[in-house]
Formats: sequence, C-alpha cells, structure tokens
Amino acid sequence: MSISVFYDPRQSVSGINSFSPSAGKPAKFMEALQSQAICHDIMPVTPATRKDLYLVHDRQYVDEIFAGVQNNGFENNDPRVPEACLWTVGSMVSAVAYAPRATGPVCSPTSGFHHAGHRWGGGYCTFNGLMVAAAKFILANPLAKVGILDLDWHYGDGTDNILKNRPALAKQVLNLSSGKYFFDSNDDVSQFWAWLQGAILELNRFDCDVVIYQAGADMHIKDPLGGLLNEAEMARRDRIVFREINASLVFNLAGGYRGDKSSDGLGNPVLRTHLNTVLEAIAKKGGLK
Ligand SMILES: [Zn+2]
Repeated sequence: MSISVFYDPRQSVSGINSFSPSAGKPAKFMEALQSQAICHDIMPVTPATRKDLYLVHDRQYVDEIFAGVQNNGFENNDPRVPEACLWTVGSMVSAVAYAPRATGPVCSPTSGFHHAGHRWGGGYCTFNGLMVAAAKFILANPLAKVGILDLDWHYGDGTDNILKNRPALAKQVLNLSSGKYFFDSNDDVSQFWAWLQGAILELNRFDCDVVIYQAGADMHIKDPLGGLLNEAEMARRDRIVFREINASLVFNLAGGYRGDKSSDGLGNPVLRTHLNTVLEAIAKKGGLK
C-alpha cells in the first residue's frame, strides 16, 4: 500500500535563520520516507500563482511580500520565501484537487499556513495554503464544501480571519481549530477527545467533499511550544481522524519544534511523528480497522 505525496524540491528553502524548521522540512520529510522504505508515489505539483493568492489574500499584501518591502511569516524579507511558498501552496492545491479521485488519504508535505490572514502573516506563515486550496477547489467545483480540521497546537487564526473577509467562501468552508480551545498543557486529555469527536460530527454533518487535516506535530506533550498528547495518543488522534471522517482527505505536516533541527530520519522526533501519521493514513487506505 502506497501513499500519494505532492512534492516538488522547490517547496523547500534551506538555511533560513529561524526557530521554526518548517522551511526546510519538506525535503527532510521526503528523505525520511525514503530511508524508512515507506511506499510512496511522488505526485506532480503545479505551483500556485499570485492570482491564486489574491483569491484569499489582500492583493497589496501579496505584492509587497514579493517586492520584499513587507516581512514574510519568518520576519525577514528573503525573496526565496515567497517563491518557495508558491510551491508549498501549490502542493496543497494540487493535493486537494486530486483527493476525490484518490483511494485513500493524500499527503501534502507542507506547513506554515494557518497563521496567515487576509492581509498579514506571522508565526512562520506567509500565505494560507489551506484557504487557497479550498478556494481553488470551490472555483472548480462550485457546489463543493471543504472542511479544515486544524489539529496543530496553535489556533488557526489566519484561516478564520480570511473566512471573515471572504463571506461567500465562508458558506462553503468550515474551519475547526483545536488550538482555539486548548492552550494549557495541564488540560485533561479527555477534553481533547470529546472535542475531536464533536468536530468530526460537525464536519460529517457539513457534508464535506474534502477535508484538509493539519496534523500538527506540536500537539505532542514534549513539544516546547505545545502540547497535550503522548506518542500513542498522537497515533490515536490520526487514526480517529482518518477512519471517522466521511470525505476525501488531505493531510499536511504543520508545526513541530522538538529535537535537533539539523537531524533527520528517525533521529528527529518531529519527523518520526509525521511518519507515524503517514503510517496511519496507509493503514486506513488498506482498510484496516
Ligand atoms: Zn503550531
């Protein structure tokens, strides 16, 4: 059983000086898939265009980022960041467009989307690929509904800000972010499970054609910016999402800040968590219960 991964090397930027490893993560994730012999098909990515970004972002904000006169989500004006974003956003757009034809969950090895609002970025997020993908999918399928299940530790405030600025889209896109409710790692885990069951029920009632699952690794209890769940609970989270949502599914990597940024493969705990998500997706594809 193999997983479809929408990846292009141009979506990685190495050497960005930041606490977040997200700019270089796609390449390391692909190496880890390879080194662990996890069966995957690399699918072609069509890069996003600036016109695609205008669907959900203020035009001036987009143009200023590319011109380098406004800081990107990494708080610098490195021109490589917006260029790479066209490929990360493109990966998500391509994965969501493909999902209804796939036989199981589809992977977009991306992160750095949900803190990007209509005319601002931050928290390592420059453009909101979740919302661009939803908007493009609805353009191609005018009656479609898209769900976003955001299980990054942090609140997907940028996504909600875009929905506020695009009321027509808000009728067809439902964003549910656990980070809006869980900020304290002393919280009882049972509250999270109850919230997740409610969120899945809501998504299934909304009757989504596609659900984008932000499988944030910073939900891990040992994450310096997170978290709540231990390793086994992280896997349980993914298993519940993949098996109980009645829609085509796309998942990405989202935040994760444990361990040594320079390490890869199984030496990096964040990558290990992401690989576990892939294994749960493959198990779902294989029809395992
Ligand atoms: Zn996060």
